[in-house]
Amino acid sequence: MATADQGLAATVLETTRVRALASSPDVYELARTLPSRPEGGPGRPNQFPDFVWVLFAGMTGIFGSARKTAAAMTDPVYWHLIREGVARCLGPAEALALPPRGPSRNQWNYHSRRLHTQLPRMQETFRDLAAAQALAAGYAHDDGHHPIALPPRERFVVGDGTVVASPLRKTATRKAKKKRKAKTPDQPVRRRKSRRDPGAGWHYEGGEEEDGGHPVFGPKFVHLSVRGDRPLSRIILDMRYQPPGGGYGGEAAIAVTMTTDAVRRLPGLLGVCWDGALRGKHRDTLMKAGLQVVSPQHDGIQPRRLDPITTCPCSRQHDLWAQDGAVHEAEILDTGDLHRTRCPILRPERRGRTGRTRWYHLIRLSCGNAHRIRLDTTPDDTRREFNRAEHLRQHPPDTDGYIHCYRWRPDAESLNAQLDATLWNRRMIAYGAAQQTLIMLGFAIAQNALTRHLHQRATDHGSQAAA
Ligand SMILES: [Zn+2]
Repeated sequence: MATADQGLAATVLETTRVRALASSPDVYELARTLPSRPEGGPGRPNQFPDFVWVLFAGMTGIFGSARKTAAAMTDPVYWHLIREGVARCLGPAEALALPPRGPSRNQWNYHSRRLHTQLPRMQETFRDLAAAQALAAGYAHDDGHHPIALPPRERFVVGDGTVVASPLRKTATRKAKKKRKAKTPDQPVRRRKSRRDPGAGWHYEGGEEEDGGHPVFGPKFVHLSVRGDRPLSRIILDMRYQPPGGGYGGEAAIAVTMTTDAVRRLPGLLGVCWDGALRGKHRDTLMKAGLQVVSPQHDGIQPRRLDPITTCPCSRQHDLWAQDGAVHEAEILDTGDLHRTRCPILRPERRGRTGRTRWYHLIRLSCGNAHRIRLDTTPDDTRREFNRAEHLRQHPPDTDGYIHCYRWRPDAESLNAQLDATLWNRRMIAYGAAQQTLIMLGFAIAQNALTRHLHQRATDHGSQAAA
């Protein structure tokens, strides 16, 4: 699906994308959250209404650079498409009040900076709008049921962290060159005024440093999205900047916040797919919030003995272990070796109300009797310092549930690829966390606008065909 999506995305014309963006009500809703500027106040006069800056940010998510966006904005064809969208969403008077051509790159550079202090509010509004769009598209439908074995895709979110290459090329090499230059005699060291990107930092991709991840330099963002099986049906629910350095919990902590925020808006969500960044404590928080968490089991986790069952009606004692995320039963072989066999899961169970959910597996023991075992961490576990959620999984890897859900995870990588393919030179096109966040927000707005537009078009065709 991911590749089909990318292939199809390449055939969507830029005019379609701009039309979709300009006729997205989200653009104007987001602009409404911005404080109005008093006439004759300080700063440059703004001949454009604020929604033009939201549109500009969105268009950088189509054209991949501010330069090309400004060129499109001053092009009569694109400007006409924009006016049509404005007329559709705000009425013909607003469209007529627009200047004859769009803003320049300089005007964008000046006015976009005004938006920096408004970013938290804009992001919060974006999350509300994206959740509303998801509901309207029929995703995260809350029917009161919580299917665990084979949940539907539209009720699962997928997320990932992505490091966008820094706009600065080869920082490390440049430093090395400088050093070499300094050694050349009789030549004064010329200090080139080099640009810094305060938004970029060293991050690890493909796992943390100790897991063999490789370092990448650039600004990092974490995103969360939901989709159906139709091509180009993805809705980005959240997009957040991750500061460099690990003191705040990193990608996994942001993932937990984003997912629990999404569930607050979309109580019909059932679960989340993520890569190995999520560990036991993160999964535990998400499980208690009522969610299924599908992510690979960490390599370095050794099998661990669980409390033995001494009360089985078969009157034998069962020696239980956690291994590869699943409950195993150990027996001593004739050779004296310990052999562990995975206990079949008869039924996964979700109990308690959302927010204080408890999770269990009903497993079959070697004697044939069933046994219920808790999967999320209990207060007693905490006292014993037993990280239960690290060792036991709702969907242990290689089970049907895991395979069913984890195949949706590559869609998060497909989003990363689409982002890279959009950005000019496959690099971040802005400096500093705030401006970069604005660009990423613009990308998300443009993506969701296209999804809405294509969905609308398909629905219209459908009803025409039916008529
Ligand atoms: Zn038994």
